[in-house]
Amino acid sequence: MDALLERLRAGLPAEALITDPDVTASYAHDMASFCDAGTPAAVVLPRSVEEVQHVMRTATALRVPVVPQGARTGLSGAANASDGCIVLSLVKMDRILEISPVDRIAVVEPGVVNATLSRAVGELGLYYPPDPSSWEMCTIGGNIGTASGGLCCVKYGVTAEYVLGLEVVLADGRLLNTGRRTAKGVAGYDLTRLFVGSEGSLGIVVKAVLALRPRPPQQLVLAAEFPSAAAACDAVCRIMERGHTPSLLELMDRTTVRAVNAMASMGLPESTEALLLCAFDTPDPAADLAAVGELCKASGATEVVPADDVAESELLLQARRSALPALETVKSATMIDDVCVPRSRLGAMIEGTAAIAEKFGLTIGVCAHAGDGNTHPVVCFDHTDPDESRRARASFDEIMALGLELGGTITGEHGVGVLKKEWLARELGEVGLELQRGIKSAFDPLGLLNPGKLF
Ligand SMILES: Cc1cc2nc3c(=O)[nH]c(=O)nc-3n(C[C@H](O)[C@H](O)[C@H](O)COP(=O)(O)OP(=O)(O)OC[C@H]3O[C@@H](n4cnc5c(N)ncnc54)[C@H](O)[C@@H]3O)c2cc1C
Repeated sequence: MDALLERLRAGLPAEALITDPDVTASYAHDMASFCDAGTPAAVVLPRSVEEVQHVMRTATALRVPVVPQGARTGLSGAANASDGCIVLSLVKMDRILEISPVDRIAVVEPGVVNATLSRAVGELGLYYPPDPSSWEMCTIGGNIGTASGGLCCVKYGVTAEYVLGLEVVLADGRLLNTGRRTAKGVAGYDLTRLFVGSEGSLGIVVKAVLALRPRPPQQLVLAAEFPSAAAACDAVCRIMERGHTPSLLELMDRTTVRAVNAMASMGLPESTEALLLCAFDTPDPAADLAAVGELCKASGATEVVPADDVAESELLLQARRSALPALETVKSATMIDDVCVPRSRLGAMIEGTAAIAEKFGLTIGVCAHAGDGNTHPVVCFDHTDPDESRRARASFDEIMALGLELGGTITGEHGVGVLKKEWLARELGEVGLELQRGIKSAFDPLGLLNPGKLF
């Protein structure tokens, strides 16, 4: 331990190294429940690529594990410390280095907060689409680490589609440049894409070249109430089948609507079984919303209310963004699932989840990026009650099993981390798992980067 701290100190300014156990303990875990976290030996907050290289060279020389972290808003334990590790928090590397309207790219350090980048490019008439609900807190490095999604993915896709190139410090301290800053480029294997969603297990992202789009018109939102989640899912299928391109298509079930109202007095309709929010950022959003409103009615919507203006639309989005924090107030603890199924199976997924809630006698609220088929069943339970905790974990697992059965994936955007590592093997199969382990050892032969995650 002394040797480690001494070597780290040799290449870092004093304020970049934290060893006070009370403070290092606060970096031990992200926002996921039920994920083991160890005690870090030290926390390092570098401000430069050279400092990151120094940390990795030291870690390799002394065989010390390193856990990269962004804002620790992750929901799978992927940023949790392991015993004796160096936590490498990239939050101080938070400069936007370049925004080029001609090349339509931004070059950023990993600690830039998602909303900060979105606002900065917005001032230049540009748009960085990936928008996790946590966008005011989470970092671009963390978004790349988890391949995160968000509300606008139904039209604009996820983080992977916007990462053009990366600068990465490898486990042994070497600096790797991947990808490009050009509009096209197919030279060699796509290592950039490999890093997206790698959960800090292959290298430390120290710079990213991100694609931007022209800023679309402000979106207008419609809220539709349904007598059942199945009817709302039917509307989702109709909307997609008819070739509409909503910029957002989100679902909240009754439990979620009530939780949001209880937390934030949003005035959402309490009696609804399912609320669908649909938005368009097209040149004539009102016309698109009118067409979608008719489809919702054909699926049985009892009320269809288009927002009058952008301000009202923003309120509805705020309600949706507060869904997870609101569900967290229902009981003392939550387990947040992230199963994504083909859109056509969304109804079966939500109905199946309700049956699982009944079987285990639990409250499970569901909010979903419905247009992507990506559900977030939130299991609410009392963590001081051992039996209820056991049932919560069992229901969480059954939800993933159901997702795989329906042709889906165990995680649409939150990642595997610690929470779902047993399930990754089931989804990938033996051959897939073996190849992924081979890739990990090619980048990190000593297994020092974020050990205990993914596999
Ligand atoms: C209220 C709430 C709402 C959320 N909504 C969404 C949502 O809509 N969509 C969604 O996808 N997620 C959502 N999340 C989950 C979370 O915000 C995302 O996973 C986010 O991308 C994590 O970013 P972070 O900066 O907090 O990263 P962290 O949690 O700190 O880290 C995430 C992973 O990235 C790795 N990592 C971080 N920085 C680097 C780096 N520089 N180099 C290499 N690896 C790195 C870490 O090791 C870890 O594996 C939500 C979370 C909360 C609390």
